[in-house]
Amino acid sequence: MPELPEVEVIRRGLASALTGRKIIRVVIQNRRLRLPLPRGRFKAWVEGRKVTSVGRRAKYLLITMESGARLVVHLGMSGRLAFVPEGAPRKDHDHVRFILDGGLELRFNDARRFGSVQVVTPERGDGAALFAGIGPEPFSRKFSAAYLLARTRGRKRPIKNLLMDGTVVAGIGNIYANEALFVAGIDPARLAGGLDRDGCRRLVRGCRQVLERAIACGGTTISDFVNSSGVAGSFQCELQVYGRDGEGCRSCGSLIRRRVLAGRATYSCPLCQR
Ligand SMILES: [Zn+2]
Repeated sequence: MPELPEVEVIRRGLASALTGRKIIRVVIQNRRLRLPLPRGRFKAWVEGRKVTSVGRRAKYLLITMESGARLVVHLGMSGRLAFVPEGAPRKDHDHVRFILDGGLELRFNDARRFGSVQVVTPERGDGAALFAGIGPEPFSRKFSAAYLLARTRGRKRPIKNLLMDGTVVAGIGNIYANEALFVAGIDPARLAGGLDRDGCRRLVRGCRQVLERAIACGGTTISDFVNSSGVAGSFQCELQVYGRDGEGCRSCGSLIRRRVLAGRATYSCPLCQR
């Protein structure tokens, strides 16, 4: 499943190739995604308009049109956005085709159909509702040691579960929660409320360090992630704990152990993480 770094890698690819281009037509091949595709809104707000910018909030891609509307794309479990030459043969699970000027198409492909493509319009202000309740971005100043300390007081859940709660911080999924806790030297099962200010500071820094490095590596490709040009990521080669149970810790040599927390595979070093 794409997490924040993978979505950010896609965003960067789209920003350079899509900004300033016109979306001439939107062709819907399959309306049965997680949410119905807004054919009328595509016509009214997207077709014939230029893209002015490509942003991201949590794991949503925000493609802003000169009409002021935004295409809001969520990749779900298996969604992909990729550029192909106009009229290239259709692949299985190509659900939406954005026909661009300059002989290109952007295609949304999603085998498992948990993804979605929506259009939010400025007149209705419905973007705000969509993002209400999402926590601060991990790179924002709001996600600070003081903030994390406040959010963890009195919480009896394992810190890893809290880190993966999108209302606490946006976009951190299982892989990067595991990795950030290793970098911070914190046992994933430790109760959130037991973290002190220094622990919170290390964890905020750990999240940023791991996410930054993953973005620089083009994301993590465990099964099938590729960027908008079809290139896989390489951060999987740098994973310190995720998927490494039974292998030696790269720092101290102890065997990485695997547990299950809140139903999710959890990896840690028994010596480096307390
Ligand atoms: Zn270790």
